[in-house]
Amino acid sequence: MMTKRDYYEILNVQRTSSNDEIKSAYRKLALKYHPDRNKSPEAEEKFKEISEAYAVLSDQEKRKRYDTYGHVGTEEVFRGSEDNFAEIFKDMGFGGVGDIFEQIFGRMGGGGGNRNDPFGFGSRTNDRRIRGRDLLYDVDMRLEDVLKGIKQEIQIPSIENCSSCSGTGASPGTSPKKCVTCNGQGQTRRVYNQNQFSTFISLETCNTCHGEGKIIEKPCSICKGNGKINKTNTVNIDIPPGVEDGTTLRLSGKGEHIQGGVNGDLLIRIHVLPHELFKVLDDGDLICNFEVSFIDMILGVETRVPTLDGNEKLKIPSGTKANSIFKIKGKGLPRYGKFGRGNQYVKVEVKLPDKINDKQKNLLKDLAKEFKKNEY
Ligand SMILES: [Zn+2]
Ligand SMILES: [Zn+2]
Repeated sequence: MMTKRDYYEILNVQRTSSNDEIKSAYRKLALKYHPDRNKSPEAEEKFKEISEAYAVLSDQEKRKRYDTYGHVGTEEVFRGSEDNFAEIFKDMGFGGVGDIFEQIFGRMGGGGGNRNDPFGFGSRTNDRRIRGRDLLYDVDMRLEDVLKGIKQEIQIPSIENCSSCSGTGASPGTSPKKCVTCNGQGQTRRVYNQNQFSTFISLETCNTCHGEGKIIEKPCSICKGNGKINKTNTVNIDIPPGVEDGTTLRLSGKGEHIQGGVNGDLLIRIHVLPHELFKVLDDGDLICNFEVSFIDMILGVETRVPTLDGNEKLKIPSGTKANSIFKIKGKGLPRYGKFGRGNQYVKVEVKLPDKINDKQKNLLKDLAKEFKKNEY
């Protein structure tokens, strides 16, 4: 058995490298070896190697395990790491994770112990049903949406059997014929004579039927012989209150639907839009700036400040200093994954008049004198 290379060495990073460094190292290598870009046969092997290394090193838990115990079974390597890839591939303009891993490692979940699925990527099913792609959707949310949660309708691609030919791809009244070249196997055996003593046999996709094992002489005019029709389904999604910017929610089985197969997952990536008044702090807390006149800061005032639930009373005590921060309990965002809501903080800024009239000016002068008198 071949010894495995060190994952850090594969990605050309240090054992102390940060997450970002590892990510950018993988990104660079993936750009070079991604099968969409690099068609050489070595590239695919290389891409598998770097992807396996990245799957482990990009995941804190797996990285720690690797640092302590070294290589483990590759079955565990990719499990749960899809999101780490999704982001990178999307940024680089490649297809979804499902696409590439399907292409390279075989259909995700396409049968346990399948030679096309050496890494056991995705969930395993014991039958050989195909699995729809995982789909990534970006959803913009205002803070008001984060407060209450939102429901949205999303159009999901759905691949269904053509009703005209019942999914056979052959024009109604005809049926597909078994391919004679490969005897319906979809693969042909080719024998190579390496030298006079040894030969090796390789299984190749049949050129006549392109691996289908059958020939459609008269293709169905509706599906052009595919047997499948692309449709869309509406899926209602329910985004819970309190989700944080950058969170990706996985809705299992809500991704691409393939009739007779297993649905992919739907990944919802949350973007929280900037708000004109409130800034988001940690753990559901919000902060806003609020202007109070210098007189009110000196004398104290009971005022009303905006919150996501409308205006709330706030008492500014006399002698409040500029930039003091007040807390309004429980008026922040719901704490995601916890109970209750965060707090809203109010930073008090001094409001000075833009213009003053002569009377006000004289009163201020008198006031200044009064203060001076007390000082000396
Ligand atoms: Zn059809
Ligand atoms: Zn064939």
